[in-house]
Amino acid sequence: MPNFPATVESRLPAVGTTIFTVMSALAHECGAINLSQGYPDFNADDELFERVAHWMRAGANQYAPMAGVPPLRRAIAAKIEALYAACYDVEHEITVTAGATQALFTAITALVRPGDEVVVFEPVYDSYVPAIALQGGVVRRARLRAPDYRPDWAEVAGLIGPRTRMIIVNTPHNPTATIWSGEDMDALARLTDGSAIVVLADEVYEHIVFDGVRHESVARRPALARRSLVVSSFGKTYHVTGWKVGYVAGPRQLMEEFRKVHQFNVFTVNTPVQLALADYMGDASRHLGLSAFYQAKRDRFRAALAGSRFELLPSRGTYFQLARYREIGDLPDREFVDRLTREVGVAAIPVSAFFEGGRDERVIRFCFAKSEATLDEACARLRAL
Ligand code: PMP
Ligand code: GLN
Repeated sequence: MPNFPATVESRLPAVGTTIFTVMSALAHECGAINLSQGYPDFNADDELFERVAHWMRAGANQYAPMAGVPPLRRAIAAKIEALYAACYDVEHEITVTAGATQALFTAITALVRPGDEVVVFEPVYDSYVPAIALQGGVVRRARLRAPDYRPDWAEVAGLIGPRTRMIIVNTPHNPTATIWSGEDMDALARLTDGSAIVVLADEVYEHIVFDGVRHESVARRPALARRSLVVSSFGKTYHVTGWKVGYVAGPRQLMEEFRKVHQFNVFTVNTPVQLALADYMGDASRHLGLSAFYQAKRDRFRAALAGSRFELLPSRGTYFQLARYREIGDLPDREFVDRLTREVGVAAIPVSAFFEGGRDERVIRFCFAKSEATLDEACARLRAL
């Protein structure tokens, strides 16, 4: 193909291919165990596949309503009410999306205007900043500091001003595996009180919280819920990251703006999968049991690495585990994971990928959403270092 005849002026000049794609490709190329990109290596429940097949055969193969099929929106509203005691109107306040990434991108596109400031917490999940940049928004970064990565509310207060349009919250947090406490949510409520700031809450790991601690959804606090769009993803909850179905819940005024963009962004999401998810959600034990399921994996992974030279940071939620490797060496984290993948046969994510300018604190992220056999073999290799 001959080249495009002009220079393409990039709208995202600093952006390359995501670290998740890069590391998964390297893992594949090297035949390494892939603990980098966050997804399970085990299959989802047969029952879920049967429900999809059922709805396909039943003829549910045409466009779903723009906001999502009513049974799924009803199931989502019922789940949120049961867990967080918040009532979202099924008709106007819940929208099914093509995964959380689309929900986040659409929310930012709908609400952030050029020059608006958006506060994010760094290390920051990689999709937020490019979405803000494309809208001409200005990113303000609050730092989460190792090893606890707690928000510093005095610092956050200093970042908020008359141009602040949005604060993006992510709890449980990717990549640090920390969770926000009730006090953190109270602090957020106090800081935003009386303002027009929108909270965009990325809660895709809402059902993966360990040690008996409860997830602090923004939906739990009416003062926050009324200014928030809450995003979740079925990919994380039902082990189907490749299906790309999620949802957003929020008050009608915000949702109206969200839907204006959503209808031209994806319009509507896979119909038989939505209907299958609605059926599957009927059994709440499936999402309620997820914390225990992943906690067992976390414990197995941590126990197996206890005798290694990795220093494990706390993992309180998500399916990630951060590790320092200073006893092993002082390579930059990108070089370290490159060698880990090629020479040891285990792929991980360098946490510098979540920092502006690639700030490198010599910390890497492992994903433990894997079968026991995969985890055991990976740990045997990591212990040999
Ligand atoms: N937010 C966070 C914090 C995530 O970790 C992920 C996916 N790993 C997403 C959003 C995107 O979710 P989805 O695959 O549903 O787009
Ligand atoms: N969110 C997943 C992770 O953190 C990856 C999703 C993606 O590849 N964009 O690993």
